[in-house]
Amino acid sequence: MVSAAFDVIVIGAGIVGAACARETAARGLKTALVDAGVVGGGATAAGMGHVVAMDDSPAQLAFTSHSQRLWRELAPQLPDDAEFDLCGTLWIAADDEEMTEVRRKHGVYAAAGIASEILSSEELAQAEPHLRPMAGALRVPRDAVLYPPCAAAYLTREAQRLGAKLIAPKRVATARAGRVRLEDSSELAAGRIVNACGAEAMRLTPGLPIRKRRGHLVITDRYPGFVRHQLVELGYLKSAHSTTADSVAFNVQPRRTGQLLIGSSREFGAEQPDVNHALLGAMIARAQAYLPGIGGLQAIRVWTGFRAATPDKLPLIGPWGEDETMFLATGHEGLGITTSLGTARVLMSSMLGEAGEIDPAPYLPSRYGPEAADNIAHAGPPEGAMSAGEQSHA
Ligand SMILES: Cc1cc2nc3c(=O)[nH]c(=O)nc-3n(C[C@H](O)[C@H](O)[C@H](O)COP(=O)(O)OP(=O)(O)OC[C@H]3O[C@@H](n4cnc5c(N)ncnc54)[C@H](O)[C@@H]3O)c2cc1C
Repeated sequence: MVSAAFDVIVIGAGIVGAACARETAARGLKTALVDAGVVGGGATAAGMGHVVAMDDSPAQLAFTSHSQRLWRELAPQLPDDAEFDLCGTLWIAADDEEMTEVRRKHGVYAAAGIASEILSSEELAQAEPHLRPMAGALRVPRDAVLYPPCAAAYLTREAQRLGAKLIAPKRVATARAGRVRLEDSSELAAGRIVNACGAEAMRLTPGLPIRKRRGHLVITDRYPGFVRHQLVELGYLKSAHSTTADSVAFNVQPRRTGQLLIGSSREFGAEQPDVNHALLGAMIARAQAYLPGIGGLQAIRVWTGFRAATPDKLPLIGPWGEDETMFLATGHEGLGITTSLGTARVLMSSMLGEAGEIDPAPYLPSRYGPEAADNIAHAGPPEGAMSAGEQSHA
């Protein structure tokens, strides 16, 4: 029995679904937001919360920098527990070879209107005294960090304030042709359904070109001021031709609590949330190679989470397949916190057929299409072959 009718049902109240529901509700659409668990309890709770401009491709740079601007505009309204902090990123060059990458990145950002400055070895040592001596860095001052589950909770509350109905905890069993059946057999109807289930999206919509990519993070006790920026290595230059499936990179974030988040790792083929101790050991050793003092800090928790990876490393946003009611907002890999607000905007323009602030074409799911999905889903990126920034980024 159909118990309620909506204009839009968003399935998944991670940061992406929450942002989408807020946007549809703000546009006057009668919206339901359904989640199997708690708001922001999926990858959103596992993510690092680095709001970062990334330049692996022009489309990625356009999307991340646009989304980053939306976060900066929203920042004054965010609650304190979202911990928005404009701490900036330091992309760290260990040697002269990596300084070449610093200069390349500086040029790309400048061309895109993104402020950045090159730091010498001495300037870097002053900015981050706990780093071992390095060749230099690129500082990107408008990158930020936030606490993703509380940001998702805020976006959900905003959606509710604007009239959206939160239905949780309720798992969706099937979603098609304007009908959403919950596991308790009740049914909801809508003109449009948005699958925002992150790395679980292919369970509801088979054939999506998404693979799960597991990541580990460690959080320490409180050490205020130990690092001041999000610190990310540029060391991928030397390991870009790695043939192993798994990778780690130096990536450390200061939390407003004084805690440090230590990442990052990437694994394909891991389906369970258990800890890979060998990979975790390699990740911590990598962090110690950059921040020798980190070995003396107390770690208090380790966890894993799953990124939703697409073959071209761009998300899937817009209509999908023959079912005219079905839309996607998934496939954000390691950038879904950053691009959640931009995703909501792109989704709205594809739903309402409006011209958006950025070109939605690179993110349209139709670049794959159901008929191509079988081949693409199995092709994926070659194990270990990563684009430039993603190997370092969380
Ligand atoms: C270790 C790690 C570090 C990261 N660091 C960063 C970072 O620094 N910056 C950044 O931008 N991104 C980062 N990411 C990526 C980011 O966390 C994700 O891209 C983002 O959280 C995806 O949000 P989402 O809403 O799409 O998915 P999720 O947060 O996973 O939300 C999906 C929701 O769907 C619900 N759901 C699933 N199936 C059903 C169903 N059948 N019925 C109802 N509900 C369902 C789940 O309960 C869940 O709440 C990181 C990810 C990881 C794993």
